[in-house]
Amino acid sequence: MSFQLTILGTGSATPVLNRHPTSHHLIIDQEGYLIDCGEGTQLQLLAYKLRPSKIKYIFITHLHGDHYFGLIGLLSTFNLHRRTDDLWIFGPEGLAEIITIQLKYSDSRLMFKIHFTETDTEKSYQLFENEHVTIHTIPLIHRVPCCGFLIREKERKRNLIKEIIPAGLSYEDLKRLKDGYDILDENGQILYKNQDYTTESSNKPRSYAFCSDTLYHRPIIDQVKGVDLLYYEATFLDELSQRAFDTNHSTALQAGMVARDAKVGKLIIGHFSSRYKVLDDHLTEARSVFPNTDLAVEGESLLIGNSGVNHV
Ligand SMILES: [Zn+2]
Ligand SMILES: [Zn+2]
Repeated sequence: MSFQLTILGTGSATPVLNRHPTSHHLIIDQEGYLIDCGEGTQLQLLAYKLRPSKIKYIFITHLHGDHYFGLIGLLSTFNLHRRTDDLWIFGPEGLAEIITIQLKYSDSRLMFKIHFTETDTEKSYQLFENEHVTIHTIPLIHRVPCCGFLIREKERKRNLIKEIIPAGLSYEDLKRLKDGYDILDENGQILYKNQDYTTESSNKPRSYAFCSDTLYHRPIIDQVKGVDLLYYEATFLDELSQRAFDTNHSTALQAGMVARDAKVGKLIIGHFSSRYKVLDDHLTEARSVFPNTDLAVEGESLLIGNSGVNHV
């Protein structure tokens, strides 16, 4: 199963050339997930050849414009492309109302159904699950309600011991064995015991945590403990730590500290203030406490694999 992230935006609130506001695109087993949708996200999707029609789930961290001003544009484009597939959108209180009003006054009638789910940004809980992943909220400290998202692959399916699998088992029976169930006969008696025909998957479930705008806040560390890949905002350098504190943002050093203390596999940092034209110091600062750090770079893709995170 693929688990691939592409960075679409690395900037923060003030526009700057060559840096777009926040958006991350994930492909997990052929399905598209978008986390945040800053202005211009749909153009970034085009630039990096990611098919908007594949996006099934959209998660918005908070209602500052650099995290969702691209949403209405993307929805309108879905309509122009005659999308009929349902779309699931998760975000804080107010998002559904804003989108509904924008659609109302532009007299847009969508050809597809949107399922809105309001996030409770005050607590960590399971927001979403499907066949492949669970997604938990990560409460963040910001000027408006805000939460990050922790995406965890579900336990891998069991491996079939092909040499001894009885001939003639149906696809459904094989699927049941892979899912960890026994095969029963019509009377409910065990025909094939799962443990006799399968072994546990040796691959550990993969995980990715997205922490957008937030004050450095130690409870986040517990929430992202041990994830394979952590994205954490680094709006400022540590010399502006007071400014970070005043505006409910973090520094590159703090991003490194979260990654180090949470013992994550790899850290990427982004949401850079427009005041920084070059980002070398951000990287140096974060790496001083957590060496396996990279800058988020627009258009770059990272594959979260069984042996770590690799640039594609
Ligand atoms: Zn922001
Ligand atoms: Zn913000």
